[in-house]
Amino acid sequence: MNLNLYIKGKWHTPTNGQNREIVNPANGEVIFHTVDGNKDDVQAAIQAARSSFDQRDWPEMTSAQRSRLLMEVADRIEKQLDTLAELEMLDNGKPLHEAKIDVQDAADCFRYYASIIRKSNGKTFNPAPNLETVVVREPIGVCGLIVPWNFPLLMGVWKIAAALAAGNTIVLKPSEVTPITAVKLFEIFADTGFPAGVVNLVMGEGKIVGNELAISHDVDMVSFTGGTETGRQIMKAASGNLKKVSLELGGKSPNIIFADTDIELAVDYALYGIYYGAGQICSAASRILVEESIYDAFVDRFVARASKITVGPGNNPDTEMGPLVSEEHMQKVLDYIRIGQEEGARLACGGNRLRNTGLSAGYFVEPTAFIDVEQNMRIVQEEVFGPVVTIQKFTDETEAIELANGTRYGLAGAVFTNDGNRAWRVIKKIKAGITWINTYHENYYEAPWGGYKESGIGRSLSETGLDEFSELKQININL
Ligand code: NAD
Repeated sequence: MNLNLYIKGKWHTPTNGQNREIVNPANGEVIFHTVDGNKDDVQAAIQAARSSFDQRDWPEMTSAQRSRLLMEVADRIEKQLDTLAELEMLDNGKPLHEAKIDVQDAADCFRYYASIIRKSNGKTFNPAPNLETVVVREPIGVCGLIVPWNFPLLMGVWKIAAALAAGNTIVLKPSEVTPITAVKLFEIFADTGFPAGVVNLVMGEGKIVGNELAISHDVDMVSFTGGTETGRQIMKAASGNLKKVSLELGGKSPNIIFADTDIELAVDYALYGIYYGAGQICSAASRILVEESIYDAFVDRFVARASKITVGPGNNPDTEMGPLVSEEHMQKVLDYIRIGQEEGARLACGGNRLRNTGLSAGYFVEPTAFIDVEQNMRIVQEEVFGPVVTIQKFTDETEAIELANGTRYGLAGAVFTNDGNRAWRVIKKIKAGITWINTYHENYYEAPWGGYKESGIGRSLSETGLDEFSELKQININL
């Protein structure tokens, strides 16, 4: 398989770039090699996107033509669903059934944005008797898109589909840990017949390749998904030309469970909320808050079920939770488990790397839960990004809200209760952009996705996501 960069409609092998081994996290074996791009490669990709945008062949294509190409990409993704899902599983480690959901979602995302650009573009107002005001969307220009490893294909597609639908040209930088499905996606672009320079792919280290996209004055917008500290660095780097910055960052999301809820339902969603994706999901429910009167019953049920989760390689149909993405990331998660214990929190289950037969070479960590935790502990305040949850007790609604909002993050949150008034009252006080009542992780393209506080700036998905990749212009007409 060709694992090269894609610049101005051609595959490109970086010269003098550092070789990189791409490892299967289920067994530690090297599955592919890539060569990192350098600053010159990134500049070539930016200039390709720049001249393509300035020639206007993509932004001025009719919405019908643009929509047709995006629909074709969706069809081609779907035709290759099994191959793409298999590669995603090998590269990221996630179970095959999860990878298949991601690939289908990627096709649907292209279809969603291909459809909404066929609707009316803009709004009209009549603010004074002699004045007609029209607000139109225009593309921003060259968009640098930087994405993480947890949903390697899907996080890229959320950005690419919206950016292209809005008429921008793009340079994508996947995570250096999981670049394979991005390369496959660019094979699809190459076969679909986009004008040269509309879509470009660079690979390599964030501090070099990603940073070059963030600092370049020829990039008009940088859209980033990843860790909060990286987001901060990108924002600084982007300040040179005050380019538009969109950030989807980390989380430490609360899952509040009141005593009047259906406890079995709450346990089901609490497990799904933290252990789906091995907890490597920005919106993971990594802090469970339980009302005092059902705390012990909840912990007993949760721990009994968590301990029975089948952990294993993604290609085993029985696997419910796969490995962590890399040895380095596993080490970070194990460090947090150690820190939690040193801080005085108590392990209710898990806590170890799995060394069972067949798993010892992979990066598997047990589903882990901490009890006896205090709000100021690092294990409660910092994003672990692994299968590690804290379970805290609260006495009343006021305390639940205070604990829920008591971190620097504000990505997601949930409430479980059978009292409809309380559900609304509490959810409206949660400082987060994505919230759920009596469910978790539900997400559809019709609604905007993004965080409050240090979980990000801006929104992806929905029509708001199209605005995010657009300049909005008001045109005032004197009648
Ligand atoms: P990361 O921040 O380490 O890396 C993300 C991307 O940024 C990678 O492509 C990396 O190469 C690049 N990068 C790193 N340093 C850079 C720099 N200085 N300049 C430019 N680019 C740079 O994140 P990760 O470890 O790949 O992913 C995990 C993080 O992503 C978690 O914090 C998670 O919460 C977050 N995330 C957020 C969302 C969301 O929607 N809010 C979704 C998925 C993941």
